[in-house]
Amino acid sequence: MEYAVNAQSIRAAQQSREPAITAADIDGASRDNFLRNMPGSLATTIIPFSLLALCCLQLSQWPVMTGLLLLHGAVLGAMLHLSRRMLAARSATRKRILWQIYQILSLSSGALWAACMQPVFSSLGVDMAAMFVCIVIIVTVAVTSMVIATQWDVFIAFLGGFMVCLLPQTILSLDAIGPIPLIATLGLAPALVRLAHVVRRQDREMLAAQLERQQLADDLYHALATAEYLANRDSLTGLYNRRAFEAEATQMQARHPERAHSLILIDLDHFKAVNDRFGHAVGDFVLIRTAEIITRCIDRQGLAGRGDSICARWGGEEFIVLLQGGRADDASTMARLLRAQLVMMRDPAWPEELIITASFGIAKWHSAIPLHQAISHADSAMYEAKRAGRDRIHAHASALGADLRQGSPS
Ligand code: GH3
Ligand code: MG
Ligand code: MG
Repeated sequence: MEYAVNAQSIRAAQQSREPAITAADIDGASRDNFLRNMPGSLATTIIPFSLLALCCLQLSQWPVMTGLLLLHGAVLGAMLHLSRRMLAARSATRKRILWQIYQILSLSSGALWAACMQPVFSSLGVDMAAMFVCIVIIVTVAVTSMVIATQWDVFIAFLGGFMVCLLPQTILSLDAIGPIPLIATLGLAPALVRLAHVVRRQDREMLAAQLERQQLADDLYHALATAEYLANRDSLTGLYNRRAFEAEATQMQARHPERAHSLILIDLDHFKAVNDRFGHAVGDFVLIRTAEIITRCIDRQGLAGRGDSICARWGGEEFIVLLQGGRADDASTMARLLRAQLVMMRDPAWPEELIITASFGIAKWHSAIPLHQAISHADSAMYEAKRAGRDRIHAHASALGADLRQGSPS
């Protein structure tokens, strides 16, 4: 059983409940989407570039036009490069600086589209190619504006660059081409701003809904993982409870049906007296520390490459350990280690006379007998240890190991 949560993560999640979706979340998601879609959006500008390149062949000022198109291509290439760098950037400051450079490039791109009109302005109205160039540029600027409308600052920079460069041209050419281009230019800006505003609002509404759905899915996943964790864990020690232990043990057996395993049942000695003398809170603390010691010892066994182990709180002051592999030596070593660690267990907050001992029962479990029978063997071995004076390790006949069967307080 793999848990995506643990006691710490549950506490942390409860303390830091995610706030509702904020405007900054939407901005971030919108910008990331924009940057990710950037190569596709730029690819569409290949069409107007090709059309303008074709028109160049018929224009008298083709060298100027070609130069402008090349320069513009370089600006778009730089924007593409920047978008990749921004997606990869980790630091917020770096992202902000790159974004500012991106806006400058967007302004340059707008200005360059307007500059591309300059070579054809004088022949507007008489030359078909000039008319065609103007239409291609206006359509491209309108489409680009809608594509970048979700990023308001980039859009304003682009439109600003276009207008600042185009307006003087239309004013200076009033005599030659009349007022219509000037009026059209002045009318174009508010229309694009209005349209961009609508596009941006719709994009943000869609993103907000998407982020809320994502957050709900995350919350649900976390709630399910938490419920699963709580259903399988003992609330005091965080160890597996009896139900989860049985499920885990059965899975371990299914993974290695040919192998025998060792069970160690641990019962703290005279624990009722610990509660009575030092209080229930100290008793609880002892149980928590005991669980830590058991976990640490079996982790050490796992690190030493001696197979999987599972431990659980079996009852009030009883714990159980399942060791992969049925070697009596391993179980005996583990029980001795646990016994020694428990006797040494101290805490500055505890009275000095509080010394914890435990009685251990070891049994073997293999596919021929059910788990509950093997546990009952470990239980009777543990009771033998109790009867023999407590603070000792006993092994059931099934677990072999003559030394253990005799019982050993040392
Ligand atoms: P023995 O050596 O025979 O095992 O004696 P014992 O006192 O340990 O055993 P007994 O079964 O008589 O008592 C177990 C005690 O464990 C009784 C109960 O109050 C205590 N206990 C069980 N669960 C908890 C718990 O969650 N917290 C605390 N503080 N005490 C608990
Ligand atoms: Mg008991
Ligand atoms: Mg006890």
